[in-house]
Amino acid sequence: MLGGIKEKTGEKLQRLGIATIEDLLLHFPFRHEDFSRVTPIGFVKPGAKTTIRARVYSVRAGLTRYRRMRLTEAELSDGTGKLRAVWFNQPWVTKALEGTTEIFVAGTVERDGAGLVMKSPLYERVSSDPRHAGRLVPIYHETAGLTSRWLREKIQAILPLTERLEEFLPEAVRERHGFLPRGEAVREMHFPATAQSLDRARARLAFEEMFLVQMAAQLAKRARQREKGYAIAFDQPAARAFVAALPFRLTTAQRRAAWQILQDMERPVPMNRLLEGEVGSGKTVVSAMAMHHAAAAGFQSVLLAPTEILARQHADVVEGLLRPFGVTIALLLGSTPTTQREPMREALGSGGIAIAIGTHALLEEGIRFQRLGLCVVDEQHRFGVQQRLALRGKSERPPHFLTMTATPIPRTLGLTLYGDLDISVIDELPVGRQPVETRLVKPEERDEAYGFVRAQIAAGRQVFVICPIIQESDKLGVRSATAELEKLRAEVFPDLAERIALIHGRLKAAEREAVMARVQRGEVAILVATSVVEVGIDVPNATVMLIEGAERFGLAQLHQFRGRVGRGAHAAFCLLFTDLEDPENLQRLQAVITHRSGFELAEIDLRLRGMGELYGERQHGFDLKVADLFDLQLVREAQGEAQQVLDADPTLAHDPVLRRRLTSYRRVFALD
Ligand code: ADP
Ligand code: MG
Repeated sequence: MLGGIKEKTGEKLQRLGIATIEDLLLHFPFRHEDFSRVTPIGFVKPGAKTTIRARVYSVRAGLTRYRRMRLTEAELSDGTGKLRAVWFNQPWVTKALEGTTEIFVAGTVERDGAGLVMKSPLYERVSSDPRHAGRLVPIYHETAGLTSRWLREKIQAILPLTERLEEFLPEAVRERHGFLPRGEAVREMHFPATAQSLDRARARLAFEEMFLVQMAAQLAKRARQREKGYAIAFDQPAARAFVAALPFRLTTAQRRAAWQILQDMERPVPMNRLLEGEVGSGKTVVSAMAMHHAAAAGFQSVLLAPTEILARQHADVVEGLLRPFGVTIALLLGSTPTTQREPMREALGSGGIAIAIGTHALLEEGIRFQRLGLCVVDEQHRFGVQQRLALRGKSERPPHFLTMTATPIPRTLGLTLYGDLDISVIDELPVGRQPVETRLVKPEERDEAYGFVRAQIAAGRQVFVICPIIQESDKLGVRSATAELEKLRAEVFPDLAERIALIHGRLKAAEREAVMARVQRGEVAILVATSVVEVGIDVPNATVMLIEGAERFGLAQLHQFRGRVGRGAHAAFCLLFTDLEDPENLQRLQAVITHRSGFELAEIDLRLRGMGELYGERQHGFDLKVADLFDLQLVREAQGEAQQVLDADPTLAHDPVLRRRLTSYRRVFALD
């Protein structure tokens, strides 16, 4: 635990996730400022990022003229010129600079009426201690009200404790790669002697992070491969019959995915496969084929959906596809009354139901299966870890596991995060799908866009309007959808008021059901919704996807919305409404127009916004501070080393230190 720190500060540190000395040592700077390369003021170019070493002539505290912000202003000179440095709302700077004779300042130099000025530069006292003058100075993110300077001083003070950090990389691995010892790497990461030693420190720390992830993934994979599952033999006549009964031809990608799945199911090792494909690529059919196969061989299947609407939709679709084969299918939801639930439970336990479709209600305590051969999970971010755990003990052996997702997983992620998953990709849409024409709509173009929507409705088409939701449980999202509904009814399309409907997560299941039924019958012209799941439904007559506050969504998510239209015979459109006119935002949204591939958009998103945005905060369960997720070589090397280590010592019996390190990955990978 951290001692000698004020309670308030302790709280701020907690918010940064720092609770122990070790956490603090591992709180790395996001960059270093090179105070060793300074520019004389006389040679400074306005607009450029520069570091200056100068004498402090005066320090003044005051208020800005217009917004009455607190201001610190210092006059600096180095003999070649003069420069002012100003800081806003950082009153402590005044104190810090008083009595200082010489400082480094780093930042962008501007020229104003009074001469050269640097606004809120980074500053560092020129120390008489030669170890601190003119070197690479660590810059920490200033979150939670802790300054970079404060962190730097605190970390520097405890730097000798790096000696006590536990070395967990096996010696052989360290030697093969010529890595720095852990303590030294951490020290160099904060206060590097040279740019080269910083690189070496970073290489070592990036490797150890990736190595742990790969170790955990490999351990999970090996543990699963030791499990005994059901071998469900490939049955060619059954496969033929299923395909022959379909109202369409499977795409090549669907056939390939189905083949991979059926092959996995033949082996007595429980499958753990991710079926990945864009919205509308036809994942459900593929999963139905696998469930049909299981049923034909006398095994039960479950299909889990994230919401009741989707569960019902799946039940309809699967029932339709499997009708010719007389398979018994049951739908079990949270809202299913007890009187119906009891007989279902019994039938699941006795094998009277072959396929159970539903929500997490299917994972409840009292439910048992006679012989559960396959579990299909639709649209879950954690990729089935929890569901797999919940299913343990519900059947004699663990079922084969298939997770379906429309969230594209970039390749390196597939190798890291999902190192324990085999992946099938449906990278092809059924023939006849329309490419969706996508446009950005700025505030001044709103009326024109509404005119276009009106014309589509007049032509008999239907329209989705998506309103941003800021957090899953956020009332604001619901309110904004409600407000949008009111606005559309009262101001924009008063003549269509009766045919505008609203759907969101807070409606009761029965209400949502009723709305979706009206949509399916074409009675609703405009459906206002708060999130993807609610429009997970297939409406071939819908041709316009209008997204409010598009900047709030991830690019891959926008792409998924777009995939909800263009499923019928008519040309389809996606309108991205945004009020935010800064170039960065517009450029980001532009990517949705230029890129047609969910994979590419996911990768752009991942680079721009990080893992949390794309895959849900903390859902990945680990956080790479130094390692770059896109560094394929690093991923491969770490994976190779993890495999070697485990080949030599499968249970890590000889390496308790490494074993202990991996405990934090237990939950993510279901390591037990
Ligand atoms: P996903 O779950 O991948 O978003 P679905 O399985 O819901 O996609 O399929 C979307 C729609 O496409 C459904 O109406 C389905 O019947 C239809 N479909 C699936 N495969 C094909 C195919 N090969 N040819 C034509 N239509 C298909
Ligand atoms: Mg689907």
